Amino acid sequence: MASPASPLAIALLGATGSIGSSTLDVIARNPDRYTLHSAVAGANDARMLEVVREFSPRRVAMRDEAAARRLRERVAAEGLRTEILSGEAGVLEVAGDGEAGYTVSAIVGAAGLRPTLAALHEGATIGLANKESLVMTGRIFFRELSRHHARVLPIDSEHSAIFECLPAAAQQSLGSCDLKAAGVHRILLTGSGGPFRDTPLADLCRVTPQMAVAHPVWSMGPKISVDSATMMNKGLEFVEARYLFNARREDIEIVIHPQSVVHSMVSYRDGALLAMLGRPDMRVPIARALAYPDRVAGGVEPLDPMALNGLSFAPPDFRRYPCLGLMMEASARGQGATTVANAANEVANAAFLAGRLPFTAIADTVSHALEGLGAEDPQDLDGVLDLDARARELAGGFVAAREGR
Ligand code: NAD
Ligand code: MG
Repeated sequence: MASPASPLAIALLGATGSIGSSTLDVIARNPDRYTLHSAVAGANDARMLEVVREFSPRRVAMRDEAAARRLRERVAAEGLRTEILSGEAGVLEVAGDGEAGYTVSAIVGAAGLRPTLAALHEGATIGLANKESLVMTGRIFFRELSRHHARVLPIDSEHSAIFECLPAAAQQSLGSCDLKAAGVHRILLTGSGGPFRDTPLADLCRVTPQMAVAHPVWSMGPKISVDSATMMNKGLEFVEARYLFNARREDIEIVIHPQSVVHSMVSYRDGALLAMLGRPDMRVPIARALAYPDRVAGGVEPLDPMALNGLSFAPPDFRRYPCLGLMMEASARGQGATTVANAANEVANAAFLAGRLPFTAIADTVSHALEGLGAEDPQDLDGVLDLDARARELAGGFVAAREGR
């Protein structure tokens, strides 16, 4: 396969995280195709220093000022030439500098929204892992995307799999695909069911953060690991899939598939069922999103079908996964409700990880916020951010009141 004349310059938002590390691995394996132009992260300056040493990006931004100061000192002491910016302004400047040809959006949570939009406003091609930004903005995201001639490719493994199972015309019109014209009967969005798939329902209130982050199949950052345990992650992915593939609610079915070998499927009018299979390793969808329409080696061995046995599929039990049901209902209400549910979930997820909230109260927090807010759809980014802030306040109050009981 021919390489581009000069390597594609990549901006990596969330460089010190799980997706960030997998992306850096794919870049390192393909130095003739990719170079790290810039990197953004929150507070992990020790990991960012390693990234700077290995990849010599032109610019780096740390959201945390103290982390940026420490990094600046080390970079100067070692005679490295990377420019270090800091704070939210620094993050937005690096994300939106317009010099990278490709942006990987992999900051966790709502914090990824503004940097992702900054890249989009420069007309970048965006490899999207930060599903929360799409859940919050959906239609606004795609409106801005077409206004600025930007492009999006899915990195979330299920969405990458659905993308693979769709015809080229749909792949090239994300946000406005015509599933009916493509002959699609249904999108089957798979999920492992997380670490508590078989835990007795009565024991769920006692599960600890350590138990929740020990995902049986995937190795991921702490927030998405908890979201996988509650299956809020699948709820977020349901909304993400609706926007990416222009799908109605009834076009998407959730399927529990504990082995995480089939990463999602698309069934067609003629009875065909297309599935994408692979190892549970995010370097597969990352390599695909970076190289599309080509393929590059991302360090993952092909799956041997002879080694597969006992693949199972089942519908989700909504009593076990109330967060999934809440987010699907929010999706029926609209973008205001999904923004509220996402914000409340972030507050509750963090409180659970901090030992301040029982696992089962994550859904209670989301439900409480949805009862109070989200009746109207925000029309612009300011409206989204305002609603996000109000939902966080409401959810924070609920968590605090519960703690004081
Ligand atoms: P992570 O916690 O491992 O990493 C998060 C990254 O975001 C870190 O680099 C952190 O420094 C950075 N960050 C956090 N807050 C920031 C801020 N305010 N400003 C700038 N940077 C900030 O998370 P992850 O597991 O890599 O997930 C990242 C995103 O990708 C999430 O949206 C997640 O849902 C999505 N995703 C992850 C996986 C996976 O396998 N890990 C799979 C699919 C989708
Ligand atoms: Mg996923």
